Amino acid sequence: MIVQKFGGTSVGDVPAIARLAAIVREARSEHPVVVVSAMGDTTDRLVESLGLASRGDAKAALEVLEGVRRRTLEVAAVATGSAPEVEEELAPLFGALVDIASAVAILRSVPPDADDLFLAHGELVSSRVVARALRFLGLPAVWVDARTALVTTARFGRAQPDLERTRVSSAERLRVPVARGDIPVVAGFVGATPEGRTTILGRGGSDYSAAIFAAVLEARRVEIWTDVDGMMTADPRIVAEARVVARISAEEASELAYFGARVLHPLTLAPAIERGIPVHVRNSRHAERPGTEIHAGPAGSDPQDGDGARSIACKKGIATVDVATSRMLMASGFLRTLFDVFARHDTAVDMVTTSEVSVSVTVDDPGRLSGIQHDLEEIASVEIATGRAIVCLVGENLKFTPGVAARIFRSLGNVNVLMISQGASRRNVSFVVAEEDADRAVRLLHAEFFGPAARMSGRPESGEPGSCA
Ligand code: ASP
Ligand code: MG
Repeated sequence: MIVQKFGGTSVGDVPAIARLAAIVREARSEHPVVVVSAMGDTTDRLVESLGLASRGDAKAALEVLEGVRRRTLEVAAVATGSAPEVEEELAPLFGALVDIASAVAILRSVPPDADDLFLAHGELVSSRVVARALRFLGLPAVWVDARTALVTTARFGRAQPDLERTRVSSAERLRVPVARGDIPVVAGFVGATPEGRTTILGRGGSDYSAAIFAAVLEARRVEIWTDVDGMMTADPRIVAEARVVARISAEEASELAYFGARVLHPLTLAPAIERGIPVHVRNSRHAERPGTEIHAGPAGSDPQDGDGARSIACKKGIATVDVATSRMLMASGFLRTLFDVFARHDTAVDMVTTSEVSVSVTVDDPGRLSGIQHDLEEIASVEIATGRAIVCLVGENLKFTPGVAARIFRSLGNVNVLMISQGASRRNVSFVVAEEDADRAVRLLHAEFFGPAARMSGRPESGEPGSCA
């Protein structure tokens, strides 16, 4: 059994649904379970509609819903080959949306469980459309109500799976149809409490659903079908030669997620990864391309891992805070006092470097800097600089590779490096440069670690958009 998850753009129009069908057909011998997101930007539209309703604007809220309904039926009519039947099947769902929006417009507030029920409709609709479309195209698809398969806590808006209960219900709701030779199609993002109240897993939660189903079904792999080729060695908008990373460990992928890697958030894959189930990121527009495999194994166990560099990530809009004191810096207590200031201002610190008399930290949320400066000046002298970027070379095995630091600095030439640190995870080497030097730094590093010379010496394919977020 495998789990195939299709994101919003991979179910968003008629050609996308046709491609989805071809991909599912191709995988038939592996017994797919199909998990789908809402079509296109449906969830955003539903959020918008509910927002309007909660401000009392029923008319505008219902207009947005009507737009979603029209667009959905346009696509569904062609994709399923039967306008009247699909319209009839979806009518109660759109009816419920209108009812909830109207009630919310009267209440002028959204009960938390109403929010979940409302937003769940994007996926409840798309899964019905896709199931019907697959049948129209000759595949034995059956729609399965996600609320009967995925059991969650009642933490509305961000429900957590109850894996034991989900294992039992999924065995019945998903494994049984698969054993019959059917292809279950189920909404991502959606579950229900044991009492049957509809919940959602949080925005972007369809990947999480796929990983949860894979875990409880003990699937062989998860496929995340999206609109990019996979994780890249660098952001292709910065580095034209950036290429897809064939294999990356889950931990390396997490490291990149901090830098705004758009593809997916590896934490949502944890249920699968923790059970050793690999996740393949694939481009549904180019099913012939291999994509990226996120593997669960320890890095270094794989001969392909080579010298270990996977990707270069970069984040702009960073500020650095340099704190210097003549007081005993390392005296116990000083660092605590220092970090207390950041904690008090609710600002996370990313990189930290220390010397005998100074500490430098980076923050990516400059909103509270003046308050932080004020408080820090009571204990030390403080210098704050904004307009900086963190550039980060990610790779599990970097720590074992001699000369990595030398190669980094050699390749960077005259780019001024303001701060450097090896992450405690030792899965990355990060440094701070001026924002205007960041793109050049990424290109130079890319040439060194992933360029033709690096490739000739047999280094592996690697990385995800080190997008300068
Ligand atoms: N449709 C939901 C969202 O947009 C869940 C998902 O697509 O993963 O957040
Ligand atoms: Mg998504």
